[in-house]
Amino acid sequence: MRVDLALTTLHRSPSPNHYTGGNWKCNGTVAQIKSMVDVLNAAGPFSANSEVVIAGPAIHLAAMKKTLRPDIAVCAEDVGFKKGYGAMTGEMSAEMLVDSGIKWTLTGHSERRVGFGFPGETSEVVGIKTKNAVDAGMSVMACIGEMLADRQNGTTMKVCAEQLEAIKKALKTEDWKKVVIAYEPVWAIGTGVTATPKQAQETHADIRKWLAQNISPAVAAETRILYGGSATAANCNELYACNDINGFLVGGASLKAEFVSIINSTK
Ligand code: PEP
Repeated sequence: MRVDLALTTLHRSPSPNHYTGGNWKCNGTVAQIKSMVDVLNAAGPFSANSEVVIAGPAIHLAAMKKTLRPDIAVCAEDVGFKKGYGAMTGEMSAEMLVDSGIKWTLTGHSERRVGFGFPGETSEVVGIKTKNAVDAGMSVMACIGEMLADRQNGTTMKVCAEQLEAIKKALKTEDWKKVVIAYEPVWAIGTGVTATPKQAQETHADIRKWLAQNISPAVAAETRILYGGSATAANCNELYACNDINGFLVGGASLKAEFVSIINSTK
């Protein structure tokens, strides 16, 4: 298949075509979550075609769901490795999230893959969790991305392809409708160092090409690919101007009022 030719049609905009994810990580007292919700609820209408999804700490999900404006979806930061209910101490299964009205989850965030003092999740685990979520009716922001050494060695796409391959192995082609890819170079997460628009666009285009070659041109055209890694109000418009960037996954700045400017960034 001449995928390069097919790629000329890949920029049909997925709909809604501007996606902003927030990731509050392990942040927020009850009072701080309430004040962030108040800021977002008071922010006025978002741009047309905008989809906003915020991942919050497990303990705050129900309160977020109850108090956030209805045009912001609430997202778990992780989902169970096992399905259903039962003897799985500490797990939060996809079915349990859906039962509580939570329809989105992150999978494979680098802080879970690389770990923070505990052995991290393998790509295979990320694939299984992604499939569990989709099977339960959830949508997923599946995170991928390379470490600094990978970028320096020129193996960025090799690493991303290995992470995508494990998700592909777990999913059926139709499941990709429920998946948004968050490309998050690990060296840019929480560091204040943002990928340049050129670096981000090149990798996003490579990811789209991988989807076309390995899943289908239609999936490549329709899958939203988000950029994550020190995205801010100051750099979001320049990044969002890139053809293959369909929005953002935002950590630190999603806890600040500037998140609204990122939601309202325009091409
Ligand atoms: C993230 O945690 O997914 C992230 C992108 O964080 P930050 O925006 O703080 O780099």
